[in-house]
Amino acid sequence: MARISDLIASGRTFSFEFFPPKTDVAQLTLGRTISELEALAPSFVSITYGAGGSTRQRTQQLVQWIRQETEINPMAHLTCQGHTKAEIADILRTYAESDVENILALGGDAPADGSSAASDYAYASELLDDVVAAGRFSVGVAAHPEVHPRSADRASDRRHLAAKLRRADFAITQFFFEARVYLEMVEELRALGVDKPILPGIMPVTNKSQIVRMAELSGAAFPSWLADRLDRVESADDVRRVGVEAATELCAELLAQGAPGLHFYTLNRSTATREIYANLGLPVGN
Ligand code: FAD
Repeated sequence: MARISDLIASGRTFSFEFFPPKTDVAQLTLGRTISELEALAPSFVSITYGAGGSTRQRTQQLVQWIRQETEINPMAHLTCQGHTKAEIADILRTYAESDVENILALGGDAPADGSSAASDYAYASELLDDVVAAGRFSVGVAAHPEVHPRSADRASDRRHLAAKLRRADFAITQFFFEARVYLEMVEELRALGVDKPILPGIMPVTNKSQIVRMAELSGAAFPSWLADRLDRVESADDVRRVGVEAATELCAELLAQGAPGLHFYTLNRSTATREIYANLGLPVGN
């Protein structure tokens, strides 16, 4: 297994994000997805933490299962939401004992019912400090190319991100649809003296209304040229084909412009990611 900081230092990384399934059927789907994507030899996979800290057990179990039962290197997401410092110390100890080497330290989404989960941590930077202090992990943070929806303004968003990145090993971005927004953020961070690796997060459109809703929540602009391309087709298969084409073009541009890797939001499915891999000429296994 490996620390993500070492993997990035030795070349481009290609990675996938999964969420812990809620039902037995969803569990079977994820099992199939993991075995299909294992053939792509990902650098690592990351496992999300439910809004409000709601999937603590399931995230831990899935990360540990991947660590023990597959050849894939897992990264555990961990959020401020709903946690005391003692609970975080306990979770980190459990991960260290299971040889999990990578943690993504996040602010976390609030629970879907609008309640707020009391926490000892106000911002991801405070959680980051505790994960770094544990001394066992390669640590990543979230970056928001189009600025986090709660940010007071762009300049303060970039300053807070730069402060996190001075202590973290790398960042992974929220998804976006135009390379320009990623490249601008990288430049703005360089101007603040930060050049840690930032892995672009890629969300292929496979269902237009679902992605438009997710983009609204995350603050990502859904460009009119992409909406127009999707409006010109009707069947679900054609929407997926256009979504994969657009994501392929985005990935190719990001790699050409020197991105240190690609991180795919898979929504626990493998087909779109495998098609993009093939389109980019990356090895797709058997
Ligand atoms: P923070 O870094 O705390 O930033 C949140 C806001 O506070 C920003 O506007 C920032 O500018 C501002 N801020 C930061 N520090 C300060 C300060 N000192 N003073 C004032 N303002 C400050 N959510 C989940 O619940 N589970 C997941 O598994 C998950 N995975 C994610 C993976 C990736 C790659 C990304 C990009 C996001 C993920 N999220 C996840 C969503 C994320 O938790 C939310 O977007 C959350 O609202 C912000 O997280 P953050 O880590 O950027 O928080």
